[in-house]
Amino acid sequence: MQDGPESTRFETLSVTYGEEPTPGDPMTGDVVSPIHLASTYALPGLDTEMSLEDLDPSQGDFVYSRLSNPTRHAVEERIGALEGGEYAYAFSSGTAAIFTFVLSVVEPGDHVVAFDDLYAGTRRMLEDVFRSRLDVDVDFVDATDVENVAAAITDSTALVWLETPTNPRMNMCDVAAIADLAHDADALLGVDNTFMSPYFQNPLALGADAVAHSTTKYLNGHSDSVGGALVTNDERVADEVEFFQTVGVGDMLAPFDSYLLLRGIKTLPMRMERHQENATTVAKYLEDHELVEAVHYPGLESHPQHDLATKQMSGYGGVLSFELAGEFADAKRFLEALTEFTLAVSLGGVESLVELPAGMTHEPLSPEEREALGITDTLVRASVGVEHVDDLLADLDRGFAAMVDGAEFEDPPTADD
Ligand code: PLP
Repeated sequence: MQDGPESTRFETLSVTYGEEPTPGDPMTGDVVSPIHLASTYALPGLDTEMSLEDLDPSQGDFVYSRLSNPTRHAVEERIGALEGGEYAYAFSSGTAAIFTFVLSVVEPGDHVVAFDDLYAGTRRMLEDVFRSRLDVDVDFVDATDVENVAAAITDSTALVWLETPTNPRMNMCDVAAIADLAHDADALLGVDNTFMSPYFQNPLALGADAVAHSTTKYLNGHSDSVGGALVTNDERVADEVEFFQTVGVGDMLAPFDSYLLLRGIKTLPMRMERHQENATTVAKYLEDHELVEAVHYPGLESHPQHDLATKQMSGYGGVLSFELAGEFADAKRFLEALTEFTLAVSLGGVESLVELPAGMTHEPLSPEEREALGITDTLVRASVGVEHVDDLLADLDRGFAAMVDGAEFEDPPTADD
């Protein structure tokens, strides 16, 4: 990591880290990183001692943008600093970051233990690519109970892969305890930290060997860029990831998206605070509503893992899910009446979004798989944005009123409930 500003405070790193002028650059005085679009860079001469292996982007060594690019390098430095990791890599999507990492650390015949409650795309990747085509043995377990992970680890386990909290039920697993189990078995632990962002949770500090992000979500924060990141302190893992990123897969974040991500991260601390404040208000409002049967938000004391959340995270984030009374048709009426919350997949942007996992993100799962994960037909996931919270509550009221208007309930509740 290059020498950054002296402060190590998260808010200061978010704004400036990685954007110091690169030595050797003409000093234009830019206070933000320019978008370096060049695919290739002029070299000093043929007799240069610079070998491709020894390029050091922090010294201004750039040769070809698949290998490294100044704008991408700046954002990699920043994400590394925020996650407390020495090596960071930016990819064209969260999926690419996770894929490249897993490909870097497992081989055919290896065993992977993964949380059964993963982002559906990651689960499919592990099943349909690693298990089916690359001969990697993958076991999915309920990692909310550490004992299940312990029981699943074998002599061939090379990787334990977790997400915490999970999508959409906000289940959590104990990262520190599972890191110990993985390390006792000489396996690596990787954690997808997309939902909390490095502002509220740092898996490396809890013992994980690598942390992944879909930067599409909170890190970029404005729903206008798709990207991913992988951070580690393990030099061997870093060497492999770098090899697979630049040579094996050839996947990296484009300069314009790197710039957007750098820009988005500057306000991450403020956004996360506001997301959390609004999500807490919305969660409490929903918890008291007669047309809501359950609310899943780690910040609520009613969340079964509230203590673990408080122990391993420094906040509870901006995503929650809740189960509406009634049936699919009632949930449909509720969602279609909303005007502030946009019906859309994804999360983590400044605007509030809602989705119905059973009919959208988790629709590809079988009804049995959905039932096992607690995804009912009326479970709604909300990514609570940074708007005025009263507008969000008024919008939810609109949704409840629409449910009551067209009620198929035997004894319809009133709109005031
Ligand atoms: N991880 C989590 C937790 C996600 O929610 C997502 C996408 O929704 C991904 C990974 C995949 O990221 P991307 O869509 O950037 O490929």
